[in-house]
Amino acid sequence: MPTMNPDGFEYEYKQSQHGQGLGRLNAHKVDLNRNFPKVELLPSTNENGKGVGVPKQALYNSKSYLEELTKTQVNLEPEVRAVMHWSLIYPFVLSANLHGGALVANYPFDSQIKDVARKESKSPDDETFKMLAKTYSFAHPKMHKGNACVRFYDGITNGASWYVIDGGMQDWSYTYTSDMQITIELGCDKYPDEANLKSYWDDNKGALLAYITQVTRGIRGFVFDSKTKMPLSGVIIHVHGIQHNVSTSRDGDFFRILTPGIYDITVDRIGYQSETKQSILVGSQSSTYIEFKLKRKNFYDDNDKQGPYSNVTSTVYNRTKGVFSSFVNLTSSNVRTLYHHSKDFILHQQLFLIIAGISALVLAIVFATVVIYLRFCQGSTVRRDTGFQRYELLLQDEHDLPRIQRNNGKKSTRNGRPMSSESDDDEDETLFSSKIKKVIVP
Ligand SMILES: [Zn+2]
Repeated sequence: MPTMNPDGFEYEYKQSQHGQGLGRLNAHKVDLNRNFPKVELLPSTNENGKGVGVPKQALYNSKSYLEELTKTQVNLEPEVRAVMHWSLIYPFVLSANLHGGALVANYPFDSQIKDVARKESKSPDDETFKMLAKTYSFAHPKMHKGNACVRFYDGITNGASWYVIDGGMQDWSYTYTSDMQITIELGCDKYPDEANLKSYWDDNKGALLAYITQVTRGIRGFVFDSKTKMPLSGVIIHVHGIQHNVSTSRDGDFFRILTPGIYDITVDRIGYQSETKQSILVGSQSSTYIEFKLKRKNFYDDNDKQGPYSNVTSTVYNRTKGVFSSFVNLTSSNVRTLYHHSKDFILHQQLFLIIAGISALVLAIVFATVVIYLRFCQGSTVRRDTGFQRYELLLQDEHDLPRIQRNNGKKSTRNGRPMSSESDDDEDETLFSSKIKKVIVP
């Protein structure tokens, strides 16, 4: 994100004196990097025993939850709302927002952990964020030295360690989406002169490229339905030891950036049996590819009570144990299974589109056949009529033939009327007369 508020930047840049902070504000006089939904951090020991902050709101990274959130947050500025929407519709994996005023790579959290005196606000992915931030600072010719206007060891800092802010963009991205984001302060001058842009680019080009290649660190892969082989979206990817999950996007794909090591991964989705793969080796060069094929949960197999209906169904099942109720349960189970199957089927747009396309094609062929058939019938009717008329004319002629009367082979009449004495008729008459002569006159 190069800039979220170009107008504010332009305004402040043109002022003779900078540093009043007006460039941060939009036209409503709101600082956009304080306007994202606030993240409430509860103290927790990460599963690996390290003290971290865990967002109270981070339930499941679920999209519907996010959509609900964007609706309920009434105080969001339009720019913030747009950026949130943007991060909901694209499954970003890694990102950075570019700032000015210092030379450092700043990583989450910016918000402070509740009831904790310590300034540093570690996220469950603290090790990974340090790796990402260092990748940037060490690929930058000056940042890693950490000796610019503000001193930072290795040119990186935890957000809250530097100064605490609420409603920033990087905390939002990390907490509410599967995207890991850091904030890069590009230089000490908050409003750099246009003349310096070339040197900014030269300093940061390599670092930006090094940073984006970090998407190939950790684990990536797909999650499918074991039976239908369909990709599954919204599957929670949980790395044991880290209290932060990512989820699969529309095509069932996921990316989980991690530092090199050995990890156990559990994937979980409502309606499916969760699956764990153990001792997945993550190297430092490229990401490890893994695939999960999840089995559907049988409707009454929910002994682990993880499914959405498990409590309800087991209660119902225990209460009704007669033959009739078994039948009712079985029927409702079948209906529900059918409902889930059809819902998944319709939700799977590609397949739906293919089938709709084929149906449309079949309909078009049937329609074309009917049209051609109708036209054919019409055409042959016309031909038959014409033929019939011709045939009738011929019949009349044939019928007339015997009535031709001849008088001494010289004069002939048709239907009792005298025939015209045209040459054609004369010739016919002559021929005919000669035949008659041959027969009659021996
Ligand atoms: Zn900043």
